[in-house]
Amino acid sequence: MNGSMMFQQMTIGSMIDHAARYHCQGEVVSVETTGGTERSNWGEVARGARKLASALGKLGVEQGARCATIAWNNRRHLEIYFGVAGGGMVCHTINPRLTPQQLVFIVNHAEDKVLFLDKTFLGFATTLGEHFKSVDHVVLMGPRDEEAAALVDGLLFYDELVATGDDDYCWPDIAETTPSSLCYTSGTTGHPKGVQYTHRSTVLHTLGVNQPDGIAIAARDTVMPVVPMFHVNAWGVPYIAATVGCKLVLPGPGLDGDSLVELIDGEKVTLALGVPTIWLGLLDALEAKGSTAPSLERTLIGGAALPPYMFMAFREKYGVDAIHGWGMTETSPVATANQLLQKHMPLSAEEQTSVRLCQGRAMWGVELRVIDGAGKVLPNDGNAQGNLQIRGHWIIDAYFGADESALTPDGWFDTGDVAMIDADGFLVIRDRSKDIIKSGGEWISTVELENIAVSHPAIANAAAIAATHQKWGERPVVIAVTAEGEEVSEAEVLSSYVGKVAKWQVPDKVIFVDALPLGATGKVLKTKLREEFGKVLIKGN
Ligand code: ADP
Repeated sequence: MNGSMMFQQMTIGSMIDHAARYHCQGEVVSVETTGGTERSNWGEVARGARKLASALGKLGVEQGARCATIAWNNRRHLEIYFGVAGGGMVCHTINPRLTPQQLVFIVNHAEDKVLFLDKTFLGFATTLGEHFKSVDHVVLMGPRDEEAAALVDGLLFYDELVATGDDDYCWPDIAETTPSSLCYTSGTTGHPKGVQYTHRSTVLHTLGVNQPDGIAIAARDTVMPVVPMFHVNAWGVPYIAATVGCKLVLPGPGLDGDSLVELIDGEKVTLALGVPTIWLGLLDALEAKGSTAPSLERTLIGGAALPPYMFMAFREKYGVDAIHGWGMTETSPVATANQLLQKHMPLSAEEQTSVRLCQGRAMWGVELRVIDGAGKVLPNDGNAQGNLQIRGHWIIDAYFGADESALTPDGWFDTGDVAMIDADGFLVIRDRSKDIIKSGGEWISTVELENIAVSHPAIANAAAIAATHQKWGERPVVIAVTAEGEEVSEAEVLSSYVGKVAKWQVPDKVIFVDALPLGATGKVLKTKLREEFGKVLIKGN
């Protein structure tokens, strides 16, 4: 028997409609790919999104068709997010930092019909275009550009295309289980695999993660997603921003520290979100420019572990609260965020910090558990360490195009992370199961070793890897980059581990390099480091 309340499909079109209805003048500031800053608002973005959907229909793009983007965070990309999904098509965001082979694989696997490109990435259409088998239309995200038109046959221009759309276009009726967007994992640990989100999963993720103990974006905020819109829907920020109508600052291609400081100070950003590597550059630039980032109240940091020194630097020097979150492409991505409980309030600042440094608690809508190698569920006692599994409203069921389920027989998704959960539900990510070091049968967390290395003032960045060892199987080796103008010896770095980890967990070696190899999402490519340095402890190497 049904209850007696209205039923409405949960759709992405309804989010942008809300922004247009109640936050029409809410600002959307966009750094353009070709230079300059454009000022727009939610009313104009909503109009652009509807006209785009209408124009794509006129072009013959069918419902359910995948429309790909290779683009920075900017206003046109935002319109595509809402216009493509709202119009019943699927917005497939592609990471431009992937290899050409991966790009071709992804476009063909997704059978993309339309390819929207920022000018920076027009080269993909000229060099790889002939390999994109399914693409009917390539659209340059900007006004008409004769130089570009001469390079790509039949090239369309976003502004001209949108102009052909109807002003009075209405979103089609869409069932909430319809696919809305598609994102491939960045392949840090294997081949890219597609995760296809639905309108429903996106709406529930938006509501679930924007709780007071989650990302907590409000209408009065000015929000800057530094996390790219080509990476897991920019952690859902565009959707959250539309539902609350906050001011949105889209940083375009300039993700260096100086550009970010200028935007934060110039636009009075209150919340910025991104991976730790981005904040390394920002902290350096704040220091160099002498800015105190007065408007910035908080940052959301995830995608890799938040190093303790970064949490402290934000808090002590700039009065900024760093909120640690965890998630992955398969989890839409946000699944946990770190806010204290009432019982933590009387604790000292130091004790509170140690709670805040872990990956936080699951929000309503998802559940977490850890299991051992035999599949037995381990207790949430803050001690038992095992494989992290998850289930919930915005968690993957099956990879795009795969017949088989991605889940365990009892319906959980295995994340590939090794973790512990305490009695209050606080999650500690120890490592990726493929990265963790197994020394003489005991596990050593690379995350912990890296946090200690980067807390040394002379170390700018570091990665710990498992190196093959004749006696212990594997032993930790730290690959480190020294900070500019600093000098430090291997012995000094190793001595910083004393007293912070058990003696047998202290790395065997520190190797200094000029830079760490980064993957498509700015994470360190440990596979590459293991290839290069994995045998340094074997005699004769
Ligand atoms: P990929 O798997 O291709 O690198 P994802 O962005 O989906 O791309 O990466 C998800 C992984 O990133 C998680 O499984 C986890 O290992 C890591 N990760 C994400 N957030 C954190 C965090 N706060 N602390 C530690 N690791 C994290």
